[in-house]
Amino acid sequence: MVEKCDILIVGAGTAGTYLGWLLAKKELSVIIIEKDKREEVGKRLDVIHFESDRVEKAGIPPFQVGQPDCIEIRDTSIAVTPDFKTEIKIRSLQTIVRLTPFLNRIYNVLESDGAIIDFSCEFKKCIFEGNQLVGLIANKKGKSVEYRAKLIIDASGKNAVIRTSLPEDYGVETFKLGPNDVMYVLLQYIKWKNPQEPHPVPDTGYQWWLLWFGPSYEKEGAILGVGQPGSFDNARLAREDFLKRMKLPPYEITKKEQGSTPYRRPPYSLVGDNFLCIGDASVITYPFSGHGVTATWMLCMIALEVIEKALKNGKELSTDILWEINVKYFRDQGAKFASLFTQLSGVLNFDEKEWNYFLKKGLIYQTGEADDIPEPNKEYEEEMSAGEMLKFIFKILGGLIRRKLSFKHMRRLLQANGLAGKIKKHYENYPDNIKEFDIWVKRAKELWDQKKVAIKNLSTVQIEYY
Ligand SMILES: Cc1cc2nc3c(=O)[nH]c(=O)nc-3n(C[C@H](O)[C@H](O)[C@H](O)COP(=O)(O)OP(=O)(O)OC[C@H]3O[C@@H](n4cnc5c(N)ncnc54)[C@H](O)[C@@H]3O)c2cc1C
Repeated sequence: MVEKCDILIVGAGTAGTYLGWLLAKKELSVIIIEKDKREEVGKRLDVIHFESDRVEKAGIPPFQVGQPDCIEIRDTSIAVTPDFKTEIKIRSLQTIVRLTPFLNRIYNVLESDGAIIDFSCEFKKCIFEGNQLVGLIANKKGKSVEYRAKLIIDASGKNAVIRTSLPEDYGVETFKLGPNDVMYVLLQYIKWKNPQEPHPVPDTGYQWWLLWFGPSYEKEGAILGVGQPGSFDNARLAREDFLKRMKLPPYEITKKEQGSTPYRRPPYSLVGDNFLCIGDASVITYPFSGHGVTATWMLCMIALEVIEKALKNGKELSTDILWEINVKYFRDQGAKFASLFTQLSGVLNFDEKEWNYFLKKGLIYQTGEADDIPEPNKEYEEEMSAGEMLKFIFKILGGLIRRKLSFKHMRRLLQANGLAGKIKKHYENYPDNIKEFDIWVKRAKELWDQKKVAIKNLSTVQIEYY
């Protein structure tokens, strides 16, 4: 049995579903294969946060609080200094979503727009003809099925089942994510036993430990989350250090979840002949939060434009036709994310006292005048006006003079920021001409090689951030 379509997507998570929907709306024939059963996709995570401004930009059918897939729409959160003395209010536009009900709502929309979703259908191997990817073999409820398509999209999540099985010379890196390429996340759904006792309110972050209390679906509940690279043990030990220091009122744990989210640079190219990767398979997450869902939707919007134009003009979806996706993505969001990811290695190097100073002085989360709540950094730019830069420098100098900041760590921050600027510029010059790609990659590798490992010492564990 051979199934044919324009676009074949592997994985009906948030990435594959969104791009599938965009393409189906353009009347292209779309099939998505998904290894899990319909009602079980996404079950590994329950409550998840989407950036509300990005949801709107992506044109997702609006969320309504109280519907099965939407708990709350929030606009602020709190950051607490490591000495627990200062709380900083931050504007943060988040839609709190339940993942499986959300996916099931979107599946209905997708199917009404003509897409087919084959659930319980697992990718097994690629089919190549004349060195070109033309289809794949999947196992659908125990039967082998062949699929053929003009474009095959890997949206299979972190394991990137297609990208990692492409030949080495296909033009897309085939690396797998190792322990230092991901943040291991532990979530405990908790319920306060004496809710009248003071406790962290949702959404409160303790950035020094990369730990937070997020909103939950339960009244008097919260989600205690922590994420660290290297191992689940690192995450657990960071939480242990926090709990030794922060005396929380009694609570019970009602549910636990765990998983990992990409924390490294994406492949230098996301496209090959008849091939595109998106979502965790393409290693696209917001560098400062590890969130991946809406980060990839921006790539999907670019992909739609390029794919639709090519198919309308009767073009084959070869690497050079799909190249425009790379150019548009990496010159914009890709460049900003690469820069922020590099800056992180400077910030994560600071010790606890320095974090206190940085947070209090608004050097990490810009604090506004008086009671102003700082605006979110919607476009992930880190540009400052001359006045803001001057204020920043004075605060840094003040910290150095009063020994709140060490020269060694400040030098590392400045080095990381300098490198981030160079990396950003390099990505903004992503080559239009595919023939210049090898030279561009050579320079990109030289730059990434200069990124230093940041080290954090907690009382329970030393953690390395690559
Ligand atoms: C604990 C935790 C909390 C997180 N919280 C947030 C958050 O609050 N906000 C946020 O934006 N991001 C969050 N993330 C990250 C987010 O979950 C991912 O970035 C996002 O789910 C990636 O979507 P995706 O569609 O690329 O991959 P996935 O969601 O992994 O979907 C891939 C799909 O492909 C299917 N698949 C895999 N292999 C095959 C195969 N061989 N054949 C067929 N189908 C296959 C899988 O079953 C799956 O349904 C969190 C991650 C973790 C681990």
